[in-house]
Amino acid sequence: MSAQKRPYPITLIPGDGIGPEVIEAARRALEATGLCFDWRYQEAGAAVLEREGTPLPERVIASIRETGVALKGPITTPVGTGFRSVNVALRKALDLYAAVRPARSYPGTGARYGHVDLVVVRENTEDVYAGIEFNCGEPETRDLLDWIGAHGFGGVREDAGVSIKLISRYGSERIVRFAFEYARANRRRKVTAVHKANIMKSTDGLFLQVAREVAQDYPEIAFEDMIVDALCAQLVQHPEVVDVLVLPNLYGDIVSDLCAGLAGGLGLAPGANIGPAAAMFEPVHGSAPNIAGRDLANPTAAILSGVMMLRHLGERTAADRLEAAVVSVLREGRVRTADLPHGMETRVVGTREFTDAVIAALPPAEA
Ligand code: NAD
Repeated sequence: MSAQKRPYPITLIPGDGIGPEVIEAARRALEATGLCFDWRYQEAGAAVLEREGTPLPERVIASIRETGVALKGPITTPVGTGFRSVNVALRKALDLYAAVRPARSYPGTGARYGHVDLVVVRENTEDVYAGIEFNCGEPETRDLLDWIGAHGFGGVREDAGVSIKLISRYGSERIVRFAFEYARANRRRKVTAVHKANIMKSTDGLFLQVAREVAQDYPEIAFEDMIVDALCAQLVQHPEVVDVLVLPNLYGDIVSDLCAGLAGGLGLAPGANIGPAAAMFEPVHGSAPNIAGRDLANPTAAILSGVMMLRHLGERTAADRLEAAVVSVLREGRVRTADLPHGMETRVVGTREFTDAVIAALPPAEA
């Protein structure tokens, strides 16, 4: 039993679309563990854009800075506002440099493979996602292309657009170190650095070189590297051969969705974004406007994000109990949300009733 002295202050961002439904489910499940939370509700996204002129008011960032921990629902990226993405802006403002996405196949979910158990650690701040972009045909793009031509890189077409890929020694070292520390803390056996260093020597080559250096500090954890295309083939054929993957931003984005798909789909995939001063837990899926507000969403990804949050808070027993409850409801298959396969014995239920079943399945806390 936890010796909790005071409620954990947590910034709660319901988000939009199915966000409020799945975050409410996660909140109820977390409270059912018996722990106390001081929820600081913060609205962000489309709803506040009209009222406050921005989808990400400063008060949201200030609240996360104060609590250090946020549980967040998905937020629709508004189109045509000049705001690229609330999610990207939050990660940037709080320097949430590590995205952690475990992919585990649970029985009863129709997962294509029954033995997926891996963790994707994605660098969140660099790479072609840094936002240094030059549009085709604009004067500064022509200047840049002229400069490139003048420095010996012939054959660059003048009708090209340019996105700059930035990978630093600093960014590589902190993400690889994070992956090894995660592996150590979670008793994982191996870290695989994923790259395309054979082609992009200046960026992925640097990432790989730094990964090899950092690996020397963790002799008890196996280390290997894989080229990203070979990794994709390996994941589809033998997902059990990898354990913790550490990747630059773009490969991490793509590979984490691939892994979510291998492990049963978006409705099941939890995630965390972690930085030096704050951690934000959120399901991998988006706001799913096609099913929003109809009590149809699968809350599993949001509840499992809550499980990750409990581990981050050091509440391992409560985390294990809540994960066990989710696993037992999925395995028994008496109730399921509509996105998961269901047979004759399964009753298709909504978000709320599925959450009730998870709460009812919570193993008792030991006295
Ligand atoms: P999505 O994840 O919202 O939906 C993809 C498909 O999966 C849809 O068919 C949806 O119904 C289904 N789905 C997703 N989550 C589900 C759940 N919990 N239960 C049952 N079915 C579920 O992806 P999208 O449609 O590409 O994105 C919609 C919006 O969400 C976009 O504006 C996008 O920018 C945003 N988004 C936000 C985040 C975030 O806040 N972190 C992440 C991804 C996308």
